Amino acid sequence: MTFGAVRAQERAAKVLSGMLETGRIPAAMIFYGLEGTGKTLLAIEFAKVLFCQKRGQGPACGRCHDCQAADKRIHPDLALVNAQYQALLREEEPAKQKTLRVDTVRHLRRDMEMHSLTGGWKAAVVEDAHTLEPESANALLKIIEEPNPQTLWILATSQRERLPRTVLSRCFSVSCAPLPAVVVAAILEERGVEPRRAAAAAELCEGSAGRALELAAGDYPESLMEGPLAPFEAADGLPREAYLARAEVEAALFALSQDIRLNHLRGARTFAQVERPLRELLRLRQALRCNADPKVVLTLAGLAAEQAAANS
Ligand SMILES: [Zn+2]
Repeated sequence: MTFGAVRAQERAAKVLSGMLETGRIPAAMIFYGLEGTGKTLLAIEFAKVLFCQKRGQGPACGRCHDCQAADKRIHPDLALVNAQYQALLREEEPAKQKTLRVDTVRHLRRDMEMHSLTGGWKAAVVEDAHTLEPESANALLKIIEEPNPQTLWILATSQRERLPRTVLSRCFSVSCAPLPAVVVAAILEERGVEPRRAAAAAELCEGSAGRALELAAGDYPESLMEGPLAPFEAADGLPREAYLARAEVEAALFALSQDIRLNHLRGARTFAQVERPLRELLRLRQALRCNADPKVVLTLAGLAAEQAAANS
């Protein structure tokens, strides 16, 4: 069975098709895998099959009222829980929603306990489920321990290990595989990224379209290696907001490490030549996570990359 626009997730699709064919659908599932491998899309496409008015043995029709409403994310029985969802509830900015609060889970529970408006299934898809606060995860656990019939919970996460074991043990796990580079490149091109740049980012991203988009948006590693002053200029050009600067430097560190690794794999540099810069980049990544100044981290990373290039 195919699941709409989901690409390159044959194994996950096979597991989910089996559930639909046998009618044995777990009350709670975890879809896990790297950022940008299609977890949320797969979750919504799965729910769509349950909502579809022309539901038979096959995929969702994609044309009925329910399918179209799910595609537009406005289906009354589908809750897509993420920073935007919580921001609306709290009347705050989405960027401020770093964690999913217990009030959000309680609101969701009330919503999920109401009868389906279409007389069928209800589904909640929780994005970035690893951002659930401990109290929120507990509240969620109570719900999935005694699930209502025809109610589906799907937690999507790129960091499954951060979810409590109690929650994990109650959920059926579905793994979303890293995407092949050609698929990532095609996704980027559809979003307007120039083909050569899309191919370069796809090669560096380890199968995560999310990372590839970040890589394509920044001009790393090139911008850090255009001369001795480049790392300082790049650091000066970082966004003022700390969380944005941090995310950009994180992407830059990733791009630099991947670039050095690829050069090693291609035989352009020996292990001895890449070892020190890679260690330095790893150290900087850890420092960034411990709140080191993004500007300083980016400057040092640029200097490390320059050293790696000079060694070759
Ligand atoms: Zn349909």
